Amino acid sequence: MAPDRSGRPGASAPAFNPVTDEELESCPFCEGREDRTPPETLALPSEGREPDTPGWLVRVVPNKYPAFEQQEVVVHAPFHARSIVELDDAQLGLVAEAWRLRAVAARAEGFEHVFACVNEGKGGGASLMHSHSQLVWLREQPPVPAAEQSGEGCRLCDYLTQEREDGSRVVLERDGLMLLCPYASRAPYECLIAPLEHESSGFQSVLLGGGLALAAEALRRLHALGGPCPANLWLHEGGHWHLELLPRLTVFASVELGAGHYVNTLPPEEAAQTLRG
Ligand SMILES: [Zn+2]
Ligand SMILES: [Zn+2]
Ligand SMILES: [Zn+2]
Repeated sequence: MAPDRSGRPGASAPAFNPVTDEELESCPFCEGREDRTPPETLALPSEGREPDTPGWLVRVVPNKYPAFEQQEVVVHAPFHARSIVELDDAQLGLVAEAWRLRAVAARAEGFEHVFACVNEGKGGGASLMHSHSQLVWLREQPPVPAAEQSGEGCRLCDYLTQEREDGSRVVLERDGLMLLCPYASRAPYECLIAPLEHESSGFQSVLLGGGLALAAEALRRLHALGGPCPANLWLHEGGHWHLELLPRLTVFASVELGAGHYVNTLPPEEAAQTLRG
């Protein structure tokens, strides 16, 4: 933790640029532009319309520029939302349902692992601003969640119990889920969202939609403080599923990327206190 560094010149947060006509006119994800994406693999609600026509709430299409063997895009809303903060809990429930159904489809085709993630803003790696998630189909578990699960027993179960007793880093608990700013957060306002009871699969959990709603709530409170900001959000499956939300208010540099030491200017206790407020 290096709180004094937040006052140094140039350390202020990068913001979203205002929405331009060009962004709206060129967006392939808005309703009515279904012909600008590859044919859909799923749309919700699933009945009552022809494929690749308007009338959907959540739509899944293959990524036009995949980096992996199979990679899909989940368009979060028919209207031009730029962030999950603009989506209500029912809409995020549909996003969770789309993730679940496509994870089942991936498994049926021999891809045991799906990495689900959201990038928001250019600084978060998003190439299109219209709110969407990526589903990367993988045959092997990616290294980060695999490393988290090494060792005996469930460390997250023990960890959540400790955090609950301590309370200083907990933002809120709702519907069987906890939202907290984890101990040793890598960056200001990093958040962890996890079910209080042990569950290994987020895709199969009835709590996944609630988890996405909590991530949106955390981001909503953060946007209220300093305006929209780039962010990354991902689901870790296996072990004890959880969502990790990483607002990108700072830039990771050599010490973070090369040494693996994350220099954070905001202690998680302060971040949690601010988000509770
Ligand atoms: Zn759009
Ligand atoms: Zn557990
Ligand atoms: Zn994790």
